[in-house]
Amino acid sequence: MPQATTRKLGNPPGAEPDAGRQDVGLAEAGALLRIDLGAIRQNYRRLADMLPASGCAAVLKANAYGLGAAAVGSALAREGCCTFFVAHVHEGIALRETLGAGPTIFVLHGLFSGAEPLATAAALTPVLNSPEQLRAWRIAAGRNAPAALQVDTGMGRIGMAPEDFVALTDADFAGLDLRLIMSHLACADEPDNPANGRQLETFIALRGRFEKIPASLANSSGIFLGEAYHFDLVRPGAALHGINPTPGRQNPMAPVVRLHARVIQTRTLPPYSGVGYGHAFHTIGTQRVATVALGYADGWHRRIGGAAWYQGVRLPILGRVSMDSIILDVSALPPGAPRAGELVEMIGPHQDVDAVAEAGGTIGYEVLTSLAERFHRIYAGG
Ligand SMILES: *Cc1c(COP(=O)(O)O)cnc(C)c1O
Repeated sequence: MPQATTRKLGNPPGAEPDAGRQDVGLAEAGALLRIDLGAIRQNYRRLADMLPASGCAAVLKANAYGLGAAAVGSALAREGCCTFFVAHVHEGIALRETLGAGPTIFVLHGLFSGAEPLATAAALTPVLNSPEQLRAWRIAAGRNAPAALQVDTGMGRIGMAPEDFVALTDADFAGLDLRLIMSHLACADEPDNPANGRQLETFIALRGRFEKIPASLANSSGIFLGEAYHFDLVRPGAALHGINPTPGRQNPMAPVVRLHARVIQTRTLPPYSGVGYGHAFHTIGTQRVATVALGYADGWHRRIGGAAWYQGVRLPILGRVSMDSIILDVSALPPGAPRAGELVEMIGPHQDVDAVAEAGGTIGYEVLTSLAERFHRIYAGG
């Protein structure tokens, strides 16, 4: 059994999650979020083992997909990960403080004008996405400044347009220490989508000029497209955090999060009573309901219908999700259950992150990154 530790009881060294944020104590928390750092390490190992000839980085943008970049980053560093990606400079600065001087930290968005000294001070490596970013970094950072170049091979989001990329001359990156040539796949989670092959071909052609510099194309799902997509470094984020990188097929990753909400109160409502805002649900007969302390302000989107689970019994959500609470149908449970203060499963063995996402018409990424501040967080198995 991995030992569960809470912040109050002391986390593993270097794993102090989200310093500056007030943790919610167990006694007063409306919901408990359990994050299995051991599963994250296992997921890293599983992906790394799929790569005979490539390195495996970790993408920890958005506070490690909402799970706590300090705790997740430390756990992955202990698993041997030495290359990390974040979206913003401030995320990189925080991760550098956690991880110390060793690892490489790439900043996917590159730098906004004026942020160059911050990036230099924290030894961050910007991903330069335009000739302008490249020029500004060369001028601001001086000789041997580390840099990555991103070329857009067909996603249309960020990165240099192919024509700008090929037009770069050696003088444009003179003095820079180019560490990575990268691009990003738009449709990697659809293995049959012909866009993948087109992006791959374009990337092979464009990086040809930089044969000696490591190249990177694949995110989590991209890894599962096969070895041709692996190049020198892969950049999984979602899969490390337990999200299925192969939608429609069985999830090859270990589950990472469990979310339990507390019962505030149970009620017995008479027939034909409206339930919740807008009376979006009406009872037919006498109905027992339980209200739990989790709502859209906690990241449980209003769109997420579905259910909670209690001792193996499914408890459908009735009516609308409120800001701080959800009303559950508990008529399938024996009288007296659940009691106030008890926990119901919102994410866990009965419904994983992807299942909850599907119930809300969204993706696991959005469910995880929406999980809010008001939980009591428990980090296990770091
Ligand atoms: C978010 C992101 C990743 C990680 O993607 P996942 O699908 O979460 O694995 C990799 N590369 C880039 C450029 C990204 O923006």
